[in-house]
Amino acid sequence: MKTVAIVGRPNVGKSALFNALAGKNISIVHDMAGVTRDRITAECRRGPEVFEIMDTGGIGAKTEDVLTEQVQVEAAIALDVADLLLFVVDVVEGINPVDHELSLVLRRTQKPVVLVCNKADSTKRRMGSSEFTKLGFPDQLEVSAVHGLGIKELVEMLSQRLELSAESAEERVAYEAIRPMKIAVVGRPNAGKSSLVNAILNQDRTIVSEVAGTTRDSMDIHCRYNGKNYQLIDTAGIRRRARVDTPVEVFSVQQAMKSIKRADLCLLVVDCAAGAKMQDRKIAQLILESKKPCILVMNKYDLFHPTAQQKERIEHLDEIMRREFFFIHYAPLVAISAKEKQHIGKLFKAIEAVREGAHNRIGTGSLNRLLQHAIENTPGPLGRSAYAFKLLYVTQVNDKDDRAVPVPHFVLFANRAAKLTDSYLRHLESVIRSEWPAEGVPFIMSVRGKQPKNARKK
Ligand code: GDP
Repeated sequence: MKTVAIVGRPNVGKSALFNALAGKNISIVHDMAGVTRDRITAECRRGPEVFEIMDTGGIGAKTEDVLTEQVQVEAAIALDVADLLLFVVDVVEGINPVDHELSLVLRRTQKPVVLVCNKADSTKRRMGSSEFTKLGFPDQLEVSAVHGLGIKELVEMLSQRLELSAESAEERVAYEAIRPMKIAVVGRPNAGKSSLVNAILNQDRTIVSEVAGTTRDSMDIHCRYNGKNYQLIDTAGIRRRARVDTPVEVFSVQQAMKSIKRADLCLLVVDCAAGAKMQDRKIAQLILESKKPCILVMNKYDLFHPTAQQKERIEHLDEIMRREFFFIHYAPLVAISAKEKQHIGKLFKAIEAVREGAHNRIGTGSLNRLLQHAIENTPGPLGRSAYAFKLLYVTQVNDKDDRAVPVPHFVLFANRAAKLTDSYLRHLESVIRSEWPAEGVPFIMSVRGKQPKNARKK
């Protein structure tokens, strides 16, 4: 869904405009930590297509931060998440220095801006709006948010500018069927990579074509499984190994790294009968550091305590391997036997579950509620003191690149951001995961914000 951010200095009527656009679809964010205001996002359903509106007004208004700080925070948010900026000014008050300052920042974003002259309740007041052409935004119109004047025209203009015909869920599914997911099959020598690749290719539901890569030693294999396209990447070495059954494969970190970098998803093949080794953990570390989606493929499951009871066997495996790979906590385990071609279908189910989870989204309202709650319950470093970091707003950034398995990216806007420790950030990540498990997918958590000058004096 596209997002329109409503920006403007205090008292120009941003909330009224937000209400007028949202109608009954307002999502309330309760004011937990005393730093957010009541409403953040809502869906505007008044036009031909639904879009999200984001009321940036009042962020930081309840703290003692000065106005320019607020301008910066608003601009930062608008800059990051919105597809279009709705810049609200007040025709009664006329142009104010903050309007000038804001228009400069908004222009710098290079995003489309619609200038809305609010409080144009009468003809006389509407005349006053001509002054605002000085701000230099070609899309300008007059409204009265309180009296509902000009709202219909505004929605029409927003819809046009957003070109809201954009992708529907069905289109995405259709697109996915064409665009292959790039899968890297990685692991230490003898783990069973080539056996797995062969098992995948020999399944009767796969259609295969080999595509030589750009370099001599890279080879991608396109295959189709259950109606979906996949691209097994950098398989040259792996396939060669399969043809000539020699036990020599030099473990190369560079080779693994190259494949991981190109991948949408990594299958880390582990010989679970032999147990996890240093090299396995090393590759897992590379995947983690590259922020890549991952599944831990427990291969040679047929050799793992074969006589034990099925239920105990899998629990035992899970327990051991969770411990070995604790650091790559988001990756699910799937037990297979490549040689016996067992559970290949299950593996593809897991692959598709990862893709599905990665495409979900938590609404901005719920996300803010969730983290404010969590911070309220378990305050971060320095607790609730005036020196502690304060979360102003959190949002999931729209992924501009169209990866088959998008990696969710959360941006936290905070005061005293420097006070936010890594471990507390990981705690907040786990809070998001509790609502949205997204198995197999790493989260990127970034923090924006600065140390207000007056923080130490408080
Ligand atoms: P690679 O070096 O990772 O490509 O490993 P290979 O696919 O060449 O497998 C190494 C050895 O393990 C070969 O002898 C395979 O037959 C054997 N192997 C692979 N997968 C399995 C499995 O699931 N079960 C058993 N029992 N052996 C396997």
